[in-house]
Amino acid sequence: MTKRDYYEVLGVARNASDEEIKKAYRKLAVKFHPDKNPGDKQAEENFKELGHAYEILSDPQKRSAYDQYGHDAFDPRARARGGGFGGGGGFHDPFDIFREVFGGGGGGSIFENLFGGGQDPSGPQRGDDLRYDLQITLEEAALGCEKEISVTKPDKCDSCDGSGAEPGSKMRQCGTCGGRGQVLTSRGIFSIAQTCPHCKGAGRILEKPCKKCSGNGKYERTSKIKLRIPAGVEGGTRLRSSGNGEAGGRGGPAGDLYVFLQVKAHEIFSREGDDLLCEVPVSFVQATLGSEIEVPTLEGRATVKIPAGTQPGTILRLKSRGVKNLQGYGHGDLHVRVQVEVPTRLNADQKQKLQEFAALCDGKEAPLAQGFFEKAKKFFK
Ligand SMILES: [Zn+2]
Ligand SMILES: [Zn+2]
Repeated sequence: MTKRDYYEVLGVARNASDEEIKKAYRKLAVKFHPDKNPGDKQAEENFKELGHAYEILSDPQKRSAYDQYGHDAFDPRARARGGGFGGGGGFHDPFDIFREVFGGGGGGSIFENLFGGGQDPSGPQRGDDLRYDLQITLEEAALGCEKEISVTKPDKCDSCDGSGAEPGSKMRQCGTCGGRGQVLTSRGIFSIAQTCPHCKGAGRILEKPCKKCSGNGKYERTSKIKLRIPAGVEGGTRLRSSGNGEAGGRGGPAGDLYVFLQVKAHEIFSREGDDLLCEVPVSFVQATLGSEIEVPTLEGRATVKIPAGTQPGTILRLKSRGVKNLQGYGHGDLHVRVQVEVPTRLNADQKQKLQEFAALCDGKEAPLAQGFFEKAKKFFK
């Protein structure tokens, strides 16, 4: 059986933060915990797989080994090939990991561990993350830039400061759940916590909802957000603008805003990784006799020497004149591809000179053609 990618198992991006990894684990661990899925073999497998994925990705050393070598890093058979991670081999019991993350003691059901130990269900809730698609030019991507974007989203109510209560009014504790926001129902060996139907989990009842936000603690409005786009980003790069997502609930922190970048096609340059490519037309005389030409770069002009006898399609490399590497590993190169232009609309004089030139040719100046017709001869018989 092939092992699934650990990032895929946790449903997070490869550059996910430790916090994102922990959050994803918590969510899925509750979903697949055997207590919640009695007798479900698939859920049990998922739970184990999840434990392994979390064990690796939550440990910076193991995570970097995994990023480099994949599953081989922990496969004792692969270690002989030299790519091994020292402590590889066996995994911990996924239940140990679960207990570690949720901080629960030995006994009790997972739900008691989840909701019994200090976590307040009626407490602050983090706001949702949001996505914004931003189009930038190739120059902006290559050189970096600052952008201001307008985003319409639920922001914290400035009248009640997010509490949802009309200023001056009070909140009272919910009688149904005693302020816990959850009601517990016992069912066999474990108890299920459900959101309180009366206060919808808030634990408190508003005496008088805030007029501006109707008691939601937030309302939709447009705000301007400044973004710093680092040099070297590419189409598909995702930037995180921390705290600029949807406002949190009950005074909780806001989510994050994820900005997905798209790069517009450029008139002159195309880009491959950190390298830039540009096609430059030269005359057949320049290509034949050699010359110096000026080419555009991202930062002004540069001079390129065209050697005598340059053929169409030749690529000349201008070192480090490409895009700055996002991780700081120097710059890419600029590749100039030579296009040799065949002249058209010649006048009588020009034609005559070319005919005179043709009369002086014996084939030695065109080795490619000579070689080709040599080989083609046998087909002409
Ligand atoms: Zn309000
Ligand atoms: Zn309640």
